[in-house]
Amino acid sequence: MTATGPSAQRIDTSRPHPARMYDWFLGGKDNYPVDEELGRRIMSTDPSAPRSARSNRWFMQRATRWLVRETGIRQFLDIGTGIPTEPNLHQIAQAAVPDARVVYVDNDPIVLAHAEALLRGTPEGVTEYVQADAREPGKILEQAAQVLDFDRPVALSLIALMHFIAEEDGAYDLVDTLVDALAPGSCLVLSALTGDYDPVTVATGIAAYAAGGVTLVARSHSEVSHFFRGLDLVDPGVVSLSKWHPELALDEDEIGDAPVPLYGAVGFKP
Ligand code: SAH
Repeated sequence: MTATGPSAQRIDTSRPHPARMYDWFLGGKDNYPVDEELGRRIMSTDPSAPRSARSNRWFMQRATRWLVRETGIRQFLDIGTGIPTEPNLHQIAQAAVPDARVVYVDNDPIVLAHAEALLRGTPEGVTEYVQADAREPGKILEQAAQVLDFDRPVALSLIALMHFIAEEDGAYDLVDTLVDALAPGSCLVLSALTGDYDPVTVATGIAAYAAGGVTLVARSHSEVSHFFRGLDLVDPGVVSLSKWHPELALDEDEIGDAPVPLYGAVGFKP
C-alpha cells in the first residue's frame, strides 16, 4: 500500500502500485516496468485478468448510467478513483445531467499527477479531486462537504477499492462511517474481488500481489454483502459483475456470460 505522509506524494517506481497495475491491465500507458512485470506474472496464471479489469470498469459505467437515468441522484463521491480512463465517472454523469457534482478521491500520487483530466467537466457541474486515504473517512467527508451537499442524496462509489483494505485496517468500519454520513436516498456502489468462482487462481494472484508488497483480500458473497447491511439492494443484488444489468452495456463492451471474479452491487439507504 502507498505510505501516508510527505513521501506519499512521490511516485515510487521501485515497486508495483494498484492504480498502475489496473492501468496496465486496461491497456493504459500510465504504468512502469515494475507494474508490467507483476501484471505479466499474474497473467501467466490468470490470462483473464485484463477481462476482469475491463469488466470492472464497465460495471462503473453501467451503474453510473443507471443512476443518472433511473434515480434523482446528482452528486457522486468516488473513492479509489484510479488513473483517469475515458469515459470517467463525471463524463458519464454529466453527459446525462450537466450540473452533476463529482468528488474523486485516491491515495496514489500517480492519480494526483493525472488529476487535471478528472477536473475537466461541464461548466454547469463541479468536479473536484481530493488526495486522501480511504482509511481516513473523516478527512474525506470534511473535504467532500465543500462540494457536495450531504443533506441530499449522494452516490458513494467504492469500486475495486475494498479488496485493498483488510478487516484489520477497518474495512467495514470505514464503509459504515461513510454510509452513516449520507442522507436517505443515497446509495453505495461497490465492487470487490472474490475467490468464490476460482479460489486457486485468485489465491495465486493474491500471493503475487503480496510478493510485490500489495495487500489484496478476496471476500466471499456473504462478506461482500456485509458491506451493504442496512441498505436496500437494487436487483439483482450482489452478483458477479458480468451479471449486473448486462442489458445496459454498450455495443463495444464484450461482457459475455462467464463470471468475473468480482462481486458488485448497488444499495440504497432507506
Ligand atoms: N475505481 C476505479 C479504479 C480501481 S483501481 C475503477 O473501478 O475503475 C483501485 C484504486 O484504489 C487505485 O487507484 C488505488 O490507488 C486506490 N486505492 C487503493 N487503496 C486505497 C486507499 N487506502 N485509499 C484511497 N485509494 C486507494
